Amino acid sequence: MTIVDTPERRQLRELTRAFVTKEVLPNLDDWERAGDVPRSLHETAAKIGLLGIGFPEAVGGSGGDLLDSILVTEEVIRSGGSSGLIAALFTHGIALPHMVASQDDGLIERYVRPTLAGTMIGALAITEPDGGSDVAGIRTCARRDGDHYVVNGSKTYITSGVRSDFVTTAVCTDFPGSGTLSLLVVEKGTPGFTVGRRLEKLGWHCSDTAELSFVDVRVPVANRIGPEDTGFLAIMQQFATERLSLATQAYATAQRCVELATRWCRDRSTFGRPLASRQLVRHRLAEMHTRAEAARAYVHDVAERVAAGEPVVTEVAMAKNVAVAACDFVVDAALQLHGGFGYLRDAEVERHYRDARILGIGGGTTEIMNEIIAKGMGL
Ligand SMILES: Cc1cc2nc3c(=O)[nH]c(=O)nc-3n(C[C@H](O)[C@H](O)[C@H](O)COP(=O)(O)OP(=O)(O)OC[C@H]3O[C@@H](n4cnc5c(N)ncnc54)[C@H](O)[C@@H]3O)c2cc1C
Repeated sequence: MTIVDTPERRQLRELTRAFVTKEVLPNLDDWERAGDVPRSLHETAAKIGLLGIGFPEAVGGSGGDLLDSILVTEEVIRSGGSSGLIAALFTHGIALPHMVASQDDGLIERYVRPTLAGTMIGALAITEPDGGSDVAGIRTCARRDGDHYVVNGSKTYITSGVRSDFVTTAVCTDFPGSGTLSLLVVEKGTPGFTVGRRLEKLGWHCSDTAELSFVDVRVPVANRIGPEDTGFLAIMQQFATERLSLATQAYATAQRCVELATRWCRDRSTFGRPLASRQLVRHRLAEMHTRAEAARAYVHDVAERVAAGEPVVTEVAMAKNVAVAACDFVVDAALQLHGGFGYLRDAEVERHYRDARILGIGGGTTEIMNEIIAKGMGL
């Protein structure tokens, strides 16, 4: 099955491709070196309606659903962008959904609208230095004090955490590790809230990643998302979208690398003949293409079911693992087919090879996905 192609979706693909060609491709190498993307990119993407895809117009979005967001992610990467760029420019895809779901007008006006207009940047902070897989084990705590919470703790590996104006933060509202969680929006500049470090990474170089520290940070109760102690459920409900986005980044990266490798193998000759004339090489490309296409079809199928409201937690986990496995295979093979050039910064496959490694870690690791799948099997 594939996502139904409509005139609107064809237009969305063209809009995305034009945006990447004009705004991203001439600058991506510079942003990779700089370690982040400029704020102006968010504003430009917002002005043409790209930033708000998948968010209702009632909260400042451009409309569309999960399938439209998937198309945008796919097209950004297939047009020569990268999963790192998706992480940096579309961080609001993980920072805002809990607020939108809460239907809290105050939070929507203060954070959701400006972010979708490209004038604010948000981040989502769940992971802590003590561990990310065990969400219930969160130790950053919020103690109620009148009409404020007092937050103490730390978070790490937070995407866009260096640039963000606010952070949707998972805190424990009982004792540390109790699993009783709430989500608070913590604003940059609040006394006691600091970015400890900008973290250096293997890939996703254009996406800044932060360590965050909270020391007696006073956060208004009005900044709580939804009722107290409902944070764990809210986080789990939004994981499906994040995991499908990562799965999309994985198969789209694989598709892009198949295209790059195919072009390379047609153009590159060894021993007097194009690489693509060798059966071994053609079969390798055929296998790469098959794995990328199978992953795309399965991710689209699961995404359609999520969009239709089906309870497919297990299938989402399988889709992420299938797409990540396809991507890992393809980026490695694509780099190998490029020979020495594949190892150079000048080669686009080199960036995809590095960027791809996070996809089986972020949003729940491959092992945690397997835990979910095993549970779904009744094990
Ligand atoms: C570039 C980058 C960006 C990120 N962005 C964000 C972000 O924006 N917000 C955020 O909150 N987090 C973010 N993360 C964190 C990411 O979600 C976590 O790294 C991930 O969930 C794993 O947590 P961990 O690193 O603490 O590993 P751990 O939980 O310590 O796990 C270590 C290893 O043990 C395995 N493992 C753990 N438990 C089990 C088990 N029960 N059975 C078998 N194996 C197990 C894991 O699969 C993993 O291989 C980001 C990470 C990176 C690197």
